[in-house]
Amino acid sequence: MKKLLVSALAATVLSFGIGSEVTVASAAEPQSVTKSNILTMAAVWKQTAAEYRALYYQGFNIAQKYVDEAVAKKKKKDKPLAVITDMDDTVVIHDRYWAHLIANGEEFFDDPVWDKYIPTNSLLPAPGALDFLNHCKEKGVEVFYVTSRDQGEGTYEMALGNLQALGFPYADKEHLTVLVDTSNKEPRQKEIAEKYNVIVKLGDSLNDFQRKYYIKKDFEERNLMTAMDKDLFGTKYIIMPNPTDGHWIAAIFGQSEPEDTEENRALWQKTATRNAWGEK
Ligand SMILES: [Mg+2]
Repeated sequence: MKKLLVSALAATVLSFGIGSEVTVASAAEPQSVTKSNILTMAAVWKQTAAEYRALYYQGFNIAQKYVDEAVAKKKKKDKPLAVITDMDDTVVIHDRYWAHLIANGEEFFDDPVWDKYIPTNSLLPAPGALDFLNHCKEKGVEVFYVTSRDQGEGTYEMALGNLQALGFPYADKEHLTVLVDTSNKEPRQKEIAEKYNVIVKLGDSLNDFQRKYYIKKDFEERNLMTAMDKDLFGTKYIIMPNPTDGHWIAAIFGQSEPEDTEENRALWQKTATRNAWGEK
């Protein structure tokens, strides 16, 4: 990354040196970079920014408002109330995993390291998650956790153990679904919605709300669909921030956990500079 910054600076200095012309580094040229995890800045933001925490509080506050409204409106004959939530980066966060990855010079997202980390119960509750989930319980609103994970044998027990270690309510087999072979949450969400009036869904990825977003893999299409559904966000869908992983990464690289290759680093750089201002 250092070399890349130096070359970009050099380009800027040269262009300013010959007058008012401003240039930007060419997006198309793969550049040699000193290796560091490309997500370091995002991990630092996750670990330090009060704004990151505030977004969780904001999300849970909005969700709680709808929970309270639904409880107040509920009639005896109505279906029981529920919320559906994703786990990772929605009600639990993984600062320690990212710190470990970067401290050990691992690149991008590292699946084997993730698989070692999950059973250690080192994850943390998302800011405000425990208060919100306990509030649901106090109000008689059931919480269903629907997550997509695969650590091989024991995947389910590990996920359940993660929730129980943090003292989350409804951390039991009736309320936790772990999808191992698919990330399609819709069938389970529909099953829940048959028996319950689902107040809101919470997630950090659009796929946590509707499968149609997953099928649209191009990031411009995802952005377009999100704009078309804008009224659902903050009303039926509560989205939490996640700048390190998810389908937004897949929309760039074609997979959520891309290999650390020169080509992928070049694509990252090209994506970052695609809307660069300046004259050539
Ligand atoms: Mg998630």
